[in-house]
Amino acid sequence: METESAGNSSPPEKRVWNRISNQLLFIMALAMVVGFGAMAGFYLHRESAALRGQGERTMGLLARMASRGIQTAMLSGNAEMAHDYVENIKTVPNILDFQILREDGVPAFQDNRTIEAVNRRLGSAAFSPRVKVADQPMAPAPEAALIAAQEGRERELFAYRSDPRGDPVLTVLSPIANHEDCHGCHLPGEGVRGWVKLTTSMASVEREISAARREAGVVFGVGMLFILAIIYVAVRRKVVRRILGMTEAMGHVAGGDLTHQVPGGGCYELNRMAYSFNLMSRELLKSHQGLQGERDKLATIILSAREGIVVTDHDGEVVLVNPAAERLLGKTAKEVAEQEFINLLDDPDYLKNLLGSYDQSMPETVVYNNRMLNIYAASIRSEDGRPVGSAALLRDVTEEKRLEEKLRQFSYTDGLTGLNNRRRLDEILVDEFERAKRYGLELAVLLFDVDHFKRFNDQHGHDQGDRVLQAIGRVMKGLFRTVDYPSRYGGEEFCVVMPSTGLEGATMVAERLRQRVEEMVVDGLKVTISIGVAIFPIQPVENADALVKEADQSLYQAKHQGRNQVCCAAIEPAKIGHGPADSRS
Ligand code: GH3
Ligand code: MG
Ligand code: MG
Repeated sequence: METESAGNSSPPEKRVWNRISNQLLFIMALAMVVGFGAMAGFYLHRESAALRGQGERTMGLLARMASRGIQTAMLSGNAEMAHDYVENIKTVPNILDFQILREDGVPAFQDNRTIEAVNRRLGSAAFSPRVKVADQPMAPAPEAALIAAQEGRERELFAYRSDPRGDPVLTVLSPIANHEDCHGCHLPGEGVRGWVKLTTSMASVEREISAARREAGVVFGVGMLFILAIIYVAVRRKVVRRILGMTEAMGHVAGGDLTHQVPGGGCYELNRMAYSFNLMSRELLKSHQGLQGERDKLATIILSAREGIVVTDHDGEVVLVNPAAERLLGKTAKEVAEQEFINLLDDPDYLKNLLGSYDQSMPETVVYNNRMLNIYAASIRSEDGRPVGSAALLRDVTEEKRLEEKLRQFSYTDGLTGLNNRRRLDEILVDEFERAKRYGLELAVLLFDVDHFKRFNDQHGHDQGDRVLQAIGRVMKGLFRTVDYPSRYGGEEFCVVMPSTGLEGATMVAERLRQRVEEMVVDGLKVTISIGVAIFPIQPVENADALVKEADQSLYQAKHQGRNQVCCAAIEPAKIGHGPADSRS
């Protein structure tokens, strides 16, 4: 009964019939019953046949001797004696019956038939008829059919029967030969003159046979038990004990003790098995130690990583939270495990979406625990595509983002004045023009240029010129709303983009700027500016460039009209205020 099969992961049940020693014992017992049984049967049969043959031979000899005795009596002319002879033999112990039969199986010496036939043939009354004859004609003996089947051949016949009590009896028919000596009375040519029939009990022979069978059975049973006991002990000692030893060693290995070795010795096959097992556990130990080394390395990397790492198993249980993750999330590993992976950032839907998104080549940036965190979250899959867990990688990018912002500011800021630079201005112009156009808002652009600045530089030096430009920048920063964009256009030209600002507001603030600059004193020196104003949609332009060009036209006009003034294409020059024309030119 096999309960173990390839891939069986549950421990096998221990039953009487699934043990190797018991199974071997059963097979051996079966083989011995069949083999020894056949042998015993064969020898018992031979023994029985020999005993019966011995009985037959003895009885045959006796019958033949009796036959000769009768013949002697007959030849000596004492046929009367034959009858007495027969009766005497019947008294021999164990002889159940003794008869003389004629050649046709009818009992002889019971009537005068033969005497009369002989007297007739001899033509005399040589033999006197017997006085006492049987009342009725004699019937043939039961063995007549056996005699008839012999067709006159001279040999003993044996017939087995049971007596009325059921005991076996043997009947021997010994032929009485027709010798030449007999031809005085009997005709030559008759093969057999008659038969001596001797019946004896075979009970003692059969008893002997039964006793022999019983003895053979006892010897066979005891012998078999003895052999089986030896086999059982041998199998237990040589096979089972060794297999149990190996099983115990395998149990140690399965329990994680890969250093456990199975002792050698014993028969070749089991020795070979122990050797292979030891080889296997040594290899396992080697790769286990290798894996342990790799795991330690990995653990060191994970524990010392600056990035936060959180990993779950197949069932979503959090199995790893490294110190960096604890620090970034502001939670202990225990708290993270208790709150479950999906609540890592206190927003289950967010993390669910993140895990569900296929492309995570770029990390998501979230603000959590007063820090900016880059987060990668993904399901971990085995080689065959099965999900085996999830992992989240958190990176603190607060400082990076701060530097990035600083860099962005830097790239958008004019180094001399601290205003928006030309690159930023171009972006602002495009964005704000599009917005104004889409939402039907007004957009004012002021473009101004320092008057006679070339000359100023020439007179006071380029550095002094720079300090003037810086001072103009400071004036601009203090003058405009936070929604306006004061910018350096290039050289000593500046531009201000003012969203949602109409003609009136734009010219008013332009005039105020002009005045502030005019009033400004830098190192005891003064400058003036000329401002051109353009307003969308008063100037029905199509793009920001065109609007700037309109402002440039107005600036040109302001210069042309004597500088230090504000000009707007939409209104007449006289209507806008200005300082004393070209006073410092
Ligand atoms: P106008 O009144 O017609 O504007 O006369 P202008 O001399 O100012 O003429 P223009 O605007 O063409 O001259 C520009 C001069 O501005 C040339 C240069 O010397 C000066 N400039 C341009 N950028 C800077 C700068 O960054 N620093 C200094 N110090 N000077 C500059
Ligand atoms: Mg200029
Ligand atoms: Mg100028």
